[in-house]
Amino acid sequence: MKNVYLFGECMVELSRTSDGLLKQSYAGDVYNTAVYLKRAFNDFNVNFFTAVGEDPLSDEMVAAFEKENVNTDMVQRVRGKAPGLYMISVDNSGERSFSYWRNDSAARQIMQFVSAENVGYLCMGDLFFFSGISLAVITPNERDIFWQLLRKLKDSGVRIAFDPNYRARMWADKTEAKIQFERAFRMSDLVMPGIEELEQLYGFTEFSKIQDFCSAFGIEELVVKNGPESVCCIRDGELSEIDITPVETVVDTTSAGDSFNGVYLGARMSGIGVAESVQLAAAAAGEVIQHRGAIIPSQAFADKMGPLVEQHAVEK
Ligand code: ADP
Repeated sequence: MKNVYLFGECMVELSRTSDGLLKQSYAGDVYNTAVYLKRAFNDFNVNFFTAVGEDPLSDEMVAAFEKENVNTDMVQRVRGKAPGLYMISVDNSGERSFSYWRNDSAARQIMQFVSAENVGYLCMGDLFFFSGISLAVITPNERDIFWQLLRKLKDSGVRIAFDPNYRARMWADKTEAKIQFERAFRMSDLVMPGIEELEQLYGFTEFSKIQDFCSAFGIEELVVKNGPESVCCIRDGELSEIDITPVETVVDTTSAGDSFNGVYLGARMSGIGVAESVQLAAAAAGEVIQHRGAIIPSQAFADKMGPLVEQHAVEK
């Protein structure tokens, strides 16, 4: 059984329903990736490494992880802290924006739990996934602990996957973000950015520029997402561009990249090729954006992805 560890923060999500009420759920980029990875590849052991509080809301959050069959053995409890929270606002033109209350969240305490015992568990994984948001959540004076952990994982043969998921407001400035991301690029086997963030940080607007970037950091496999346009993959220096079928009625793009990541990781770890893995991941993301919220109803996801994953397993 493949063993995957995903490291990040899950938050309480508040969104308005059409009748103006507030709906509460749980989401966060890396958590969303864990959920979709597990939903598509049920035989994987998908572990979420995070910290929550000891309050009732944290209990409910952990119950939500369990309901998704995400392994909670590495979920740490911090006394006196609570989960972070964010609220989605939609303006008159349908544009979404987010307000966050996460500066003092339980998840920010996670580095206290990088004990020898927990490092031992993480080293037994086949894959470790984290994002730029996971990095931003770690308090700056504890970042060295994270980089030492990543070095140990790499030395133990764990594959490392990273999505920069750049959020300007989480960083002091672009330089700070780039310093951290570039450490991550150097240590990752698989990097999964969006073209938009590469443009914001490095000024790239086209895929052809990315090849040099990839070799500069020694990235084995780079997968660049570009919304409905296409996905660009570079593996062993070979560039391929894979077309996506655009979805006609997009309801909510929250978690498009996260669901893509989860299914792509699962597919690649199952031995499925790059192009086929992109097709599976894009099918998942295409379904997710036709529903509201980060985590869509499990039946809708299963109806779409079940037959596709099975077909690829047979073809492989
Ligand atoms: P992010 O959510 O990280 O900004 P993208 O917007 O590039 O990432 O979307 C991630 C993936 O979601 C894309 O690679 C694509 O597979 C899928 N996707 C996004 N928008 C659409 C769309 N309009 N139609 C079909 N697929 C889409």
